Amino acid sequence: MRSILWALVLFFLWVLPVRAARPILMASIFPLYDLARELGGQEVEVHLLLPPGADPHSWEPTPRDLLLLRRAQMLLAVGSGLEPWLEDLLAALPKEQLKVLLLSEGAPLLSLEHGDHGFDPHLWLDFRWDAVFVRRLGEELARLDPRHRDLFLHRAQDAAQRLLALDQRFRETISRCRYRLLLIAGHAAFGYWERAYGLRQVSLAGLSPEAEPTPRALREAIRLVRETKVPAVFYEEPSSRRFAEMIARETGVSVYYLTPGASPTKEELEGGVTFFSLMERDLAHLRRGLSCP
Ligand SMILES: [Zn+2]
Repeated sequence: MRSILWALVLFFLWVLPVRAARPILMASIFPLYDLARELGGQEVEVHLLLPPGADPHSWEPTPRDLLLLRRAQMLLAVGSGLEPWLEDLLAALPKEQLKVLLLSEGAPLLSLEHGDHGFDPHLWLDFRWDAVFVRRLGEELARLDPRHRDLFLHRAQDAAQRLLALDQRFRETISRCRYRLLLIAGHAAFGYWERAYGLRQVSLAGLSPEAEPTPRALREAIRLVRETKVPAVFYEEPSSRRFAEMIARETGVSVYYLTPGASPTKEELEGGVTFFSLMERDLAHLRRGLSCP
């Protein structure tokens, strides 16, 4: 039933194509939006679908967002189960009007041992894959607007190098950490850092950001802190902070913020954060929390 409604809405939205002077891009989450903004510069109009602080796992676009999408030439999304609305949209929209570029297409996705997601959708935290993706994005932009081809390709090359440098800084810093246990009082968003940098992620709430940790999970975390002597617990969104503080009260560990960066808050966005600045702040917090000289 839901699919039929979607099909109807989309049918009416796509009846008349609209063309704008500059290519219009829509992105599902902040990292894709920010990288597209960097590549597009003044030559592309980029919009972020996810409202500030919204949960990318459960948010759904409004009719107003669909109107915006109607004007767009390209949609950037993660896929692999992150955006719950994406499949209906892909099934309903005419392919020739909206190019859809998925971060997960051809990606080295991380399988989950359990849970119903199949793959870990937090793929943008694989910075090496992001570097592959921005090159692809550069080529797609060049195809969309060949007048600025060299500019897009140059910026893509630049962004790819910065992403590889970021990956290198994470790798070098974490290789020196005294502790490798990433205890997260929230959901398990950092599987790609586990794989890339040899961290061990233990989360209180599994893969769903809406799940509250059980008293048993909290007791287990406290036991883990005492056993491993890890000096820090991290929270990955404001709502999970109080659970980090509960563990801190019991054990005396420090509490640090670590954001997956998908959905910055209103304050962060107004402060002009970028995907790179969020990741650099995470790295600084990892360095302090896990004692990495
Ligand atoms: Zn998540």
